Amino acid sequence: MNAALEIVDLRSDTVSKPTPQMRAAIAEAAVGDDVYSDDPTVNSLEERIAEMFGKEAALFTPTGSLANQLAIRTLVGPGEELICEANSHIARAELGAAAVFSGITTRTWRDERGLLDHENAMSFARPNSGPYLVSTTAIAVENTHNFGGGTVQSLSEISALRKASEPMGMAMHLDGARIWNAHVASGISFAEFGKYFDTISVCLSKGLGAPVGSLMISTKERVSKARIWRKRYGAGMRQIGILAAAGHYALDNHIELLAQDHVKAKQLAKACAQVAPSTINPSHVETNIVGLDLAGSKLTAAEFAAAAKAEGVWVSALGPTYVRLVTHLDVSDSQIQRASEILQKLLQRAFMA
Ligand SMILES: *Cc1c(COP(=O)(O)O)cnc(C)c1O
Repeated sequence: MNAALEIVDLRSDTVSKPTPQMRAAIAEAAVGDDVYSDDPTVNSLEERIAEMFGKEAALFTPTGSLANQLAIRTLVGPGEELICEANSHIARAELGAAAVFSGITTRTWRDERGLLDHENAMSFARPNSGPYLVSTTAIAVENTHNFGGGTVQSLSEISALRKASEPMGMAMHLDGARIWNAHVASGISFAEFGKYFDTISVCLSKGLGAPVGSLMISTKERVSKARIWRKRYGAGMRQIGILAAAGHYALDNHIELLAQDHVKAKQLAKACAQVAPSTINPSHVETNIVGLDLAGSKLTAAEFAAAAKAEGVWVSALGPTYVRLVTHLDVSDSQIQRASEILQKLLQRAFMA
């Protein structure tokens, strides 16, 4: 690799770095000991986020995985079952945490591009299964769906799932790590998304660009239980107002900017489709994630990622033929231009007859 080459890092929206203005907000943050609930910046962030989603309370956590896990364990008991889409983060990217920490089993259904089909989900649900079969007590929905390609869930499917599952005693959890992107792409308010779920997790460290931080959102009762478990897991933290300040700054300044990430992702998708139409349908790209399917190409996803890296474009290989490109705050227009040219060149080579 040319040492002077500027890297275009499209591996994830987690790689963006705090801006100087965000760092200034961090430096000025009022802080206290959050284990004693004494940190004013954390308290105000928790209240702010709970209110945004129309819920009673929220809890700051270091990661989205922890926010998901704290939420899930308030809904599902040991020996009970959570169901979710097969490619969801909870099923694939949390290293079996629900089983390890909470004795929860997980079963999955499959939706095309992760797009929720409530009938499909309900056909897998087995509530109140008695003394012989595992009972489903909660259903998790991911919005946007990461491995589905940043897809935005349909509100009518979410609402239909709620309508069908609630009378049967099943709870619903929203993995809203990228709910900000879903909001910007759809215009649907956070409170509207929040209405259908008992618990919610959101990440400040993805497209919003904060260095650290997620929140678990729910009723006062569930959040106070989650607070105890957060401490038990060793994630009771002290003067984390410096992190919450980054979150406040991101909510104030970075939600609107996501629209630009979405435009850039669409540009990348169009560039790739132009030379290799089978890899991506640009009309499916609604947010900041572009999932390329390299099936039928001469390169595996890992080989493609290595070739791109050698040219200064970093992408993720997340399956044998699945490559993910993610746009974020630190990707400029000129970088998108350069990445598009390099990806086109590699795709041309990969699909050459
Ligand atoms: C990133 C992400 C999370 C949380 O990830 P952490 O690395 O634990 O913060 C949860 N759900 C989805 C869909 C994600 O993309």
